[in-house]
Amino acid sequence: MQTGIFCFRNDLRLHDNQALSAALDTCDKLHLVYAFEDRLWKGSAPNRISTHRARFLLESLQCLMKQINRLGGRLKIVHGNIDISIPQFMHKHGAEICFLSKESAWEENKTEEALSKVVPTTLISSPTLIHPNDLPFALSELPETFTQFRKKVEKNWTVRPCLSPPESLNSDGTTHANLPTLLDLGFTMNSLDPRSCFTFHGGSSSGKKRVKDWLWDKQCLSSYKLTRNGMTGPDFSSRFSAWLATGSLSPREIYEEIKKYEIQYGANESTYWLIFELLWRDFFHFLARVHGSKIFQSRGIHPEREKRLEPDDAEDRFDKWKNGRTNNPFVNANMNELRITGWMSNRGRQNVASYLINNLELDWRRGAQWFEEQLIDYDPCSNYGNWLYLSGFGSDPQPGRYFNLEKQAATYDPQGKYTNTWS
Ligand SMILES: Cc1cc2nc3c(=O)[nH]c(=O)nc-3n(C[C@H](O)[C@H](O)[C@H](O)COP(=O)(O)OP(=O)(O)OC[C@H]3O[C@@H](n4cnc5c(N)ncnc54)[C@H](O)[C@@H]3O)c2cc1C
Repeated sequence: MQTGIFCFRNDLRLHDNQALSAALDTCDKLHLVYAFEDRLWKGSAPNRISTHRARFLLESLQCLMKQINRLGGRLKIVHGNIDISIPQFMHKHGAEICFLSKESAWEENKTEEALSKVVPTTLISSPTLIHPNDLPFALSELPETFTQFRKKVEKNWTVRPCLSPPESLNSDGTTHANLPTLLDLGFTMNSLDPRSCFTFHGGSSSGKKRVKDWLWDKQCLSSYKLTRNGMTGPDFSSRFSAWLATGSLSPREIYEEIKKYEIQYGANESTYWLIFELLWRDFFHFLARVHGSKIFQSRGIHPEREKRLEPDDAEDRFDKWKNGRTNNPFVNANMNELRITGWMSNRGRQNVASYLINNLELDWRRGAQWFEEQLIDYDPCSNYGNWLYLSGFGSDPQPGRYFNLEKQAATYDPQGKYTNTWS
């Protein structure tokens, strides 16, 4: 008779959850737990999480709890970093083994290491489309650029099939966990801004609804490559990132939906392009696994490149950037949208990042930290990976990317509609 514990992290789903399936196969009795970790929730400036993301995460947990309850289980809530709170919980409940999904980023990996030193721990990889063991090269030989990575991967392509959700969860405990509210966690409730085009809720039910709506009902996938650089409205891109970041959707289930869609409506450049973007996500996850803490350092994975110094008024420049008060109205509009809604388009992200790095001459990490706090879809690997890429200290073969903001505004917001909306 083995009693175990499964600790949910950024894998807030019952379906296609490899670590959960392994835990259920191994344990006769399984406790299901979520930890409100201090490193995320008790941060001092720069903060780690904004109200927008906190709301989305709480909604994701509510959805997960409902699904667990429906299968006869209970989700328990603990507080504190997992290397402290999980061993305490295990001791109290007589659990002998802990299962969790392995994350890709350095801080999460450090916590995993600390936990496994204290209690028997089984870590199972699941956040990527391609399982790291199925890569056609050893992780330590990850190609330096995305193009090299993609070409190698596409030659030898294996995506493991999605796993079904468990049929029942007879986890121990009759008491319902008390999920803290936004107010309990020290946030104020904000009403949704009527201009916001991110009106979605957290949780796999809403994530699946978005897949149905965007992909199947509206068939937006067929024209995704043409619309993906848009800036206004809810449908120019999939918005899957927020559910992928919390793990309410898995990249493999999106891949399977795309493949089914291609059978029904035909494959084209757009259907391929969504998979191409999911490969970018994978690339940044593997890059984080390989380079560890380097992706959070100012010269990233190229410490040999020349260090850039910030101007004396760096604080003031950064303050204007994050509050949408620079000399550039297009940048300001994007920064206002982010602050007010927790969302910004990919086009916007590239432009405001280039402006911070090249025009304001600031350390890219200031921008990355601000994004970390503000973005609903914050994912350490995609965020720091993209910022590094643009700064010239990441995986880009070019030494930095400069975007001509006037040209960008003229191309992507020719009538100034977006800029006016968020000015
Ligand atoms: C400076 C900067 C910071 C970013 N920070 C994040 C972040 O914290 N979290 C995050 O998920 N994405 C981040 N991105 C990548 C990208 O902007 C978002 O994934 C995308 O805008 C999310 O919207 P979507 O789901 O509608 O994307 P879609 O265009 O519909 O793409 C589908 C999926 O592909 C993946 N994807 C697309 N573009 C990228 C990319 N450039 N890098 C990695 N994955 C990608 C995402 O998982 C996305 O959900 C960042 C980009 C930049 C330039």
